Amino acid sequence: MPSAYIDIANHLRTQRSERLGNTALNAADFSAIADAGYLTLSVPVEMSGHWQNLQSTGPVLAESVRALARGDSSVALVAAMHPSVLAFWHAGTGANPLDVITHQAQRHFATALDGHWWGTLMSEPGSGGDLSKTSTQAVAGANDTIALTGEKHFGSGSGQTSFMVTTAREDDAVNLFVIDMRDKAWDGEQGLTMIRPWDGHGMCGTQSHAFKLENCAAERADPGKPFSIARPQISNLSAVLFCAVIAGVLDEAFDYALKRLNAKHDGMRALERVELVRANNEHWQAITLFEAVRDKMGTPDGVAHARQAKYAIAQHAENALGRLAKVIGGSSFGRSSPLGQWSQDVKALGFLRPPWALQNDQLFEAMF
Ligand SMILES: Cc1cc2nc3c(=O)[nH]c(=O)nc-3n(C[C@H](O)[C@H](O)[C@H](O)COP(=O)(O)OP(=O)(O)OC[C@H]3O[C@@H](n4cnc5c(N)ncnc54)[C@H](O)[C@@H]3O)c2cc1C
Repeated sequence: MPSAYIDIANHLRTQRSERLGNTALNAADFSAIADAGYLTLSVPVEMSGHWQNLQSTGPVLAESVRALARGDSSVALVAAMHPSVLAFWHAGTGANPLDVITHQAQRHFATALDGHWWGTLMSEPGSGGDLSKTSTQAVAGANDTIALTGEKHFGSGSGQTSFMVTTAREDDAVNLFVIDMRDKAWDGEQGLTMIRPWDGHGMCGTQSHAFKLENCAAERADPGKPFSIARPQISNLSAVLFCAVIAGVLDEAFDYALKRLNAKHDGMRALERVELVRANNEHWQAITLFEAVRDKMGTPDGVAHARQAKYAIAQHAENALGRLAKVIGGSSFGRSSPLGQWSQDVKALGFLRPPWALQNDQLFEAMF
């Protein structure tokens, strides 16, 4: 299955110069990825999709995302969000028959079969990426309607996703909600205002816009047990898929750099040789960690190891791309070089959920 995504990445690579610094998503990219069957990977086999369970389908998703990142890191990051959020509804699927998949889950999976992309609009300014600090308020109205009011500052894939999963507070509980983004205006008319378009130094094509919600209509996700089962699965899958994006960028950056350096091989100065060897080792360590956690998804250590790997890969990737730039030379600083872009793109990993500080706390607590 990932070979289809390698073909897509090969096609995207031919457009590299136009894509550098691109700040918009291209619907044709997402159609091509959907046509290759990517959206069905998140749909349970009981519904004619390809999701079996985290152990067997997680690695396929991870390699698909890694392949896509070689063509366009922003596209890959947006693609990574889709299975990560639909995993909220996977509890009860896999070994179990269709009747344990809730009606709501069946409805959501059906949208993916119809070609709809899902994303996440959860992060809130001041929360440090901690969902328990969500301050968006959910107010229930007549006929099961819910209205959300609050601020959300990263919605990767906005404009491309049909549905955004978000969090809001109801009394003391933080619950999960789905906003139907189809045909929704961003000017406040329908409770959703885009307050800041995404202007990232890296991942600049992800359209991770900031939004204000004011009585924005949403649907509450099925409450109760399924989410307590699903949460570790989501943490595991999302951490590995975020690492997969960066693994793909690193793979591509090394291929690119080594091709450029081939001619320079004999003439490299001592510092350049040292930096290249160090970068290569960091690349190898990052990929080794990624592949280890890719294959450990769904095991008892899956979440803990994925978190540790995400932290370490983020450091290795930043270091490795900084070193590659020194070896390639000043041209890597130019906007026409993909290395400058990739150096910024890989920095996203440490900020993606759980972001640096929260993740550090989690790793610290896990030691005791
Ligand atoms: C490329 C990229 C894509 C992302 N895509 C998504 C996505 O699709 N969906 C999603 O939900 N998240 C997304 N995120 C967000 C990510 O998951 C983290 O939640 C986010 O980076 C956390 O930001 P932070 O650590 O800066 O925390 P913040 O809470 O934003 O800031 C950290 C600290 O700064 C201070 N602070 C900042 N703003 C305020 C404020 N307004 N009021 C008070 N204090 C403030 C506080 O002291 C706070 O603890 C994305 C991030 C990146 C980099």
